[in-house]
Amino acid sequence: RPAVQIDGVTKSFGNTPALEPCWMKIKRGEFLTLLGPSGCGKTTLLNLIAGFLEADNGELFLGEDLVTQVPPHKREIGIVFQNYALFPHKTVAQNVEYGLRTRGVPKEESRARVKEALSLVKLENFADRKPRQMSGGQQQRVALARALVIRPRVLLLDEPFSALDRNLRVSMQIELKEIQTKLGLTTIFVTHDQNEALSMSDRIAVMSRGRVRHVGSPQEIYEHP
Ligand code: ADP
Ligand code: ADP
Repeated sequence: RPAVQIDGVTKSFGNTPALEPCWMKIKRGEFLTLLGPSGCGKTTLLNLIAGFLEADNGELFLGEDLVTQVPPHKREIGIVFQNYALFPHKTVAQNVEYGLRTRGVPKEESRARVKEALSLVKLENFADRKPRQMSGGQQQRVALARALVIRPRVLLLDEPFSALDRNLRVSMQIELKEIQTKLGLTTIFVTHDQNEALSMSDRIAVMSRGRVRHVGSPQEIYEHP
């Protein structure tokens, strides 16, 4: 079974079609990027996979399970958005711990897992800071740790680095790729930046106007964009 399977899924908002029938299989451990201009339906597809939106037609599987039949806290989907939306008054450790609290993970185990997640994003010495005492890049790493701490079956990232300056963006791309490879994490990454897609992905799904136009390796997409 693929990690994620999208079977003829569509979504409209009122009379506006946001996603035309879409089929895709994402393998375990694969890094797949949804690439396309603003408004082409990337976020809609991501929200459908996360179960935040309900499809009009078709079916969406996480492994064996229909997404809509898995209760939200059991979906084990890690999500990182562009605007990281950390709790400003909580410390880094408390922010990262949040998903474990809601899942009832015991305190002891929780502490160890927060430490492990912070170490993955190289912020082990920042546990007691508040988000506002940190740079944009560091805050986005906290958001990544918060997504990783639940040991997600799938990691979803929606333009996570687009608010960062160019150099930082590139170093974050490298870091994310290292973590993803190390953990063998199934990852779906949304971007409108072709270079970003080319440098990180195992496969790229090129989207425009609500359609997945083609899916291919970075090499294939580079040669036939
Ligand atoms: P992208 O992530 O590629 O920028 P979106 O998935 O956000 O694209 O949007 C796809 C289309 O659906 C756009 O036309 C957008 O205006 C529309 N859309 C997205 N979300 C909503 C919503 N909640 N209500 C109405 N229209 C929406
Ligand atoms: P910026 O958005 O300012 O580029 P960075 O996330 O790259 O932010 O980090 C800002 C500074 O903090 C850099 O000098 C970096 O070396 C330092 N820094 C980042 N992570 C750590 C860490 N885990 N331990 C010590 N210093 C760090």
